[in-house]
Amino acid sequence: MDFKEHIRVIMDYPQPGIRFKDITTLLKNGEAYKAAIDELAKLVKDLEIDVIAGPEARGFVIGAPLSYALGVGFIPIRKSGKLPGETIEADYSLEYGKDKLAMHKDAIKPGQRVLIADDLLATGGTIQTSIDLVQQLGGEVIGAAFLIELSYLDGRSKMNGIPVRSLITY
Ligand code: IMP
Repeated sequence: MDFKEHIRVIMDYPQPGIRFKDITTLLKNGEAYKAAIDELAKLVKDLEIDVIAGPEARGFVIGAPLSYALGVGFIPIRKSGKLPGETIEADYSLEYGKDKLAMHKDAIKPGQRVLIADDLLATGGTIQTSIDLVQQLGGEVIGAAFLIELSYLDGRSKMNGIPVRSLITY
């Protein structure tokens, strides 16, 4: 399947100069969404994953079905103030803004092999923060999976050798 055909590119959103990759056009197509998750599952199959963690909100849309497909658990990485239990937090900057991410302190058992999943790798800020949180909790980040990678922003170079698997590259 040509997955790019299902991604809509919106110019100047949310700021002038950004070519926003809109995945909602892929998600609403059942055949394309299922094929994308199935392909992503194949791309990460070798990584011996114990659990998948994904950042709010689009990381849930990719990470949760991927967890289901692989039969492993899913851990939400949320914006500050949204998780009910005790949390750790970290600041991060995006391609177009700043925010804070949080995880439950007991989300991960030390030594667990964690795959981080998100819809899109841009500058790598979100994923770096997610990696940092998982590592603070004693998890071993064994890979990162994305529906889309914006290779011209070179987020991959910030991954410190952690394997990156992406389905669609721009
Ligand atoms: P990064 O932190 O710069 O790698 O940005 C990645 C995060 O920003 C992901 O969680 C995406 O959801 C979001 N993002 C950045 N650019 C785009 C885009 O063009 N389309 C959809 N999401 C984007």
